[in-house]
Amino acid sequence: MLTIQTSEAMQAWAQAARRSGIRVGLVPTMGALHEGHLSLIRRAFERVDHVVVSIFVNPTQFAPGEDLDRYPRQLAVDAERCAAEGVTCLFAPEATGVYAADHSVYVEESVLSKGLCGGTRPEHFRGVLTVVAKLFNLVQPDVAVFGQKDAQQAALIRRMVRDLDFPVEIDVAPIVREPDGLAMSSRNAYLSVAERQSALGLSRSLQEAVRAFGSGVRDATSLRAAIAAALEASPDVRIDYVATVDAESLAPVETLRSGILIALAAYVGRTRLIDNVVL
Ligand code: AMP
Repeated sequence: MLTIQTSEAMQAWAQAARRSGIRVGLVPTMGALHEGHLSLIRRAFERVDHVVVSIFVNPTQFAPGEDLDRYPRQLAVDAERCAAEGVTCLFAPEATGVYAADHSVYVEESVLSKGLCGGTRPEHFRGVLTVVAKLFNLVQPDVAVFGQKDAQQAALIRRMVRDLDFPVEIDVAPIVREPDGLAMSSRNAYLSVAERQSALGLSRSLQEAVRAFGSGVRDATSLRAAIAAALEASPDVRIDYVATVDAESLAPVETLRSGILIALAAYVGRTRLIDNVVL
C-alpha cells in the first residue's frame, strides 16, 4: 500500500492513474477506522480495482469548542487496517498541506444544509463539502463511497455532485451497527460504560418507530414524540433533534410513507451522536 502525505503527490498519482485508464474508488474518512469504514472500502472494491482511502480530520467542519483536538487519531493502526483490506493508496495529509494559510473559497449549500445537523452545526456542512470537493479534485475518483450513517452528509454530497457537475458516481453504504444495535462511530470511544448503555436508546427508539410504522402509524408528529419520549427515558440523553424528512430533499414530512428518513441527534453525556433509519 502506498501512503501519500501531500496534496501535490496525491494529484500527481491521480493524474497518472487517469492516464493509465484504471478506475479509482475513493473512501473519505477522518480515521479511527471501524467496521463501518471498512464496509465502505469493501463496497468500493466491488466497483473498482483501486481504492484510495483518505484519513483527514478536517478542521473546517469543526466549530470552536467542538472535539477537533480530542478526535481520536491512530494513523498507524488505521494504515494496518487499510493494508489488510488491500487498499491501493492511503492519503493522510497534514491540515497545513490541505488548506493554504489564506484559503478563502468554500462550497456552501443553501437549502439541505440548514436543517437537522445544520441547525446545531451551522458551519459544519460548508467544511464537509469544501473538503470533499478538494478530495475529488485531488484523487479524481470514478466512484466515491459514503455511509448512510451520515444521511444528511450523503444527501448534500449527491446534491453538490449534481449541481456542480463533478464527474464522480456517489455510492451510499448501509449503516454498520454493533451487535446490540448501536451505530458504529469513531465518537463511541468517548462514551463511559454507563453512557454506552444509554446510547442504545438511539437505535432502539428508531427500531420502535419502524415497528410503529409497520403497524400502521402514519402521523409523523406522534411518531417523533414517541421517539423523543423513548430517548428522554435515559437520564444521560439530551435530544438535539428528531426529524422525519424526505430522504433526498430533506424537506420535513408530516405523513409517513415508505422511503421517509427518520433522523436524530442526541447528546449522551458530552458526546453528540447521530443515527437514522429509512422507512
Ligand atoms: P467519518 O470518519 O466519521 O467522517 O466517516 C467516514 C465515512 O464513513 C462517512 O461516509 C460515514 O458516513 C461512514 N461511516 C461512519 N460510520 C459508519 C457506520 N457505522 N456505517 C457505515 N458507514 C459509516
